[in-house]
This record gives sequence, structure tokens and C-alpha cells, in this order.
Amino acid sequence: METDTKTIRKELQKIFEKKVIFNHPLSEITTLGIGGSAQYFISAHNEGDILNAIRFAKEHSLPFYLIGSASNIVANDKGVRGVVMQHSITTLEINNETKICRVGAGYSLLPLIHILNKQGLSGMEKMAGIPGTVGGAIYGCAGAYGQEIKDCLIKIKIFDGKKVRPLTRDQCKFGYRTSIFKQRKNWIILEADFQLINADPKSLKKTSRDIMKLRAKKYPPDLKCPGSFFKNIVIDAIRPAALKKQFLSKVDLQKINHGKLASGYLLEQVGAKGQKSGDIAVAEYHGNLIYNAGNGKSKDVKKLANLLKKKVQKKFGITLEEEVQYL
Ligand SMILES: Cc1cc2nc3c(=O)[nH]c(=O)nc-3n(C[C@H](O)[C@H](O)[C@H](O)COP(=O)(O)OP(=O)(O)OC[C@H]3O[C@@H](n4cnc5c(N)ncnc54)[C@H](O)[C@@H]3O)c2cc1C
Repeated sequence: METDTKTIRKELQKIFEKKVIFNHPLSEITTLGIGGSAQYFISAHNEGDILNAIRFAKEHSLPFYLIGSASNIVANDKGVRGVVMQHSITTLEINNETKICRVGAGYSLLPLIHILNKQGLSGMEKMAGIPGTVGGAIYGCAGAYGQEIKDCLIKIKIFDGKKVRPLTRDQCKFGYRTSIFKQRKNWIILEADFQLINADPKSLKKTSRDIMKLRAKKYPPDLKCPGSFFKNIVIDAIRPAALKKQFLSKVDLQKINHGKLASGYLLEQVGAKGQKSGDIAVAEYHGNLIYNAGNGKSKDVKKLANLLKKKVQKKFGITLEEEVQYL
């Protein structure tokens, strides 16, 4: 027999106390500023919270979703039934001899980079300005300015739905904006170990600062967006060979950089810049930047994204793949 909502709420309050919020508006959490309410929103501050939340959802047959900082998420206007758990484990240990940093997956990337820069530890400084948590970055193999989260990662600790266990970097199966976690949606990254190297704190800080200045031009602080909307095109991944040949005959080959073609370029060619659906718009200055101009809705995000995908498919014969995750 299904437990009624009142009993579920009581039980959740008993287990999680202030760490649970009922009907929490996701529009207040997502960087895109959209989304209905999460029925049971739990902030998990330690492994116990995570395991309890998963067990609870299972026992009550409730859907379960995991988020970090929600900087890459398009949340449904209708809200989310069940448990939405925000990973908030922010433990941090830095071994100054080995230069290994062990960090909770809920730790935000930018404050972590600030600490590492201060201590003269290099490996992440170019990712300054990517919003989100360490776990979210590993999930999507985040990166910028020639550095990716996988570069200095040694191993991680995960919960695989049954037990807590280690995973090597190779086992994470990283690729361009992807990892094994995109297939194993029930695996949860708990913490990560990074091997850093010595560098001059002043120059690390300058690198991060300069990059953040550049980034602020594309992403002004008050812009409600989830970062780049679509993944870029990895030329060697286009199959079959005939499609690749046809595609290459239609694009400016000069635009291919390190084996990738920016989807922003393709979107520009199909007139994406400035297109709108309701309050959701494509930036006038970047074809791959979809933002919420005020009271945007997820249905408009999907409508606009599908329209753009169709246009690119028609002109170039390939299908753009979302970098953002739908919730
Ligand atoms: C202004 C702006 C600029 C951006 N620039 C960049 C950029 O330069 N490069 C780049 O790569 N990205 C960029 N992004 C996208 C986004 O910041 C990254 O994808 C980020 O790594 C997402 O982290 P998050 O904690 O917010 O994850 P969320 O958005 O909360 O979640 C994303 C996915 O990760 C999963 N996830 C989160 N934590 C865990 C965990 N612990 N274990 C397992 N799965 C987990 C979630 O289930 C979800 O499917 C940008 C976003 C914004 C808003």
C-alpha cells in the first residue's frame, strides 16, 4: 500500500530535519531560473544523508533525482514528483607533501580553485568561472580554456546503488563532455582525488582572474542560462564516412579547432541568434547561448531547442546533442 504524503513528510522530517524542504521551487536553484517545485528537496551533507535519501525513495517507490549546483539543468515547469537530492558534501583535505587534494563532490569548483591557487597548486586554474560542483563537473567532464576536470583526476569514490566503492580515472570513461555517469544515472560521485603540481600562486591567481574576465563578456553575472546549450561537433565521431564528407563540404573548414566544430557556428548559419520562444531567447552575440529573459518556461526552452536542432539537421545533415540535462 502506498504511504500517504502526510506520513512521508513526517518521516522525512524525522530523518533529515532542516535538510528537507517540501515543494521547493527549482526556479530558485537552477542558473536558468526556471522549473516548478521539487516535491521533496533534500540537501545531503554527508554520505549517511545520501544513502538515507536513496533508501527512503526506494522504500516508498518515489522517483529519485540528483543535482549539484543545477548550473547545467533545465527543470520541468510542472515540477518534479519524488525526491530531488542536492549533493552538498563539502569535505576538503589537501596533502601538501603529495599534492593530492581529496574533495567532497558537492564542493563548488570556484572556491576550490581559489584555495588551490592560494596554495600554489596547479591543475584547475583555467576552469575558474565554470559554475557548479566537483561532482557535476566530473559527470559532464567539464572544461574550459584547454583544461578539463579529468586532466588531474586520479580516482573517485562512488555509490553504485549497492555499495560505496572506488573508481579509477580510466573507469570513468571520460570523453568530450561525457563520462560513464551519463549511462549509469544511478551512480553517485561522493568524492574525488586530484593530483596537482607546484606553481607560483601569483601566476595561478592571474591566470584564473584573466580567464574570469574573458568569461564575463560571454556570461555577464546576471544572465540566467545553463552555459553552452549544445555540445560542439567532434568531427571524427560523425558516422558514416559519407555523412562526414557531406558535412565537411558544407562548413568552413577554418572553423574546425582541435578536431571540433563549434555548434555556435552551425547555429549562426541557420539564423539562431536572437531567436525567441516566449521569454526564452538565443543571445544576439552567440548562437549556442540560450537564456531566460525574464519569465522563461521549460516548454519554451524545448520548443526553441527542437526548432534549432531541426534547422541544423536540415542544412547540415547532423543532429545537435544537448549538453544541458533535462530534469
Ligand atoms: C554561466 C555558465 C557557464 C558555464 N561554462 C561552462 C564551461 O566553460 N565548461 C563546461 O564544461 N561547462 C560549463 N557550464 C555548464 C555547467 O556549469 C557544468 O556542466 C557544471 O559542471 C555542472 O555542475 P553542477 O554541479 O551545476 O551540476 P548540475 O547542473 O546540478 O547537474 C548536471 C548533471 O550532473 C549530475 N551530477 C551532479 N552531481 C553529481 C554527482 N555528485 N554524482 C553523479 N552525478 C552528478 C546531475 O545528476 C545532472 O545530470 C556553464 C554553466 C553556466 C551557467
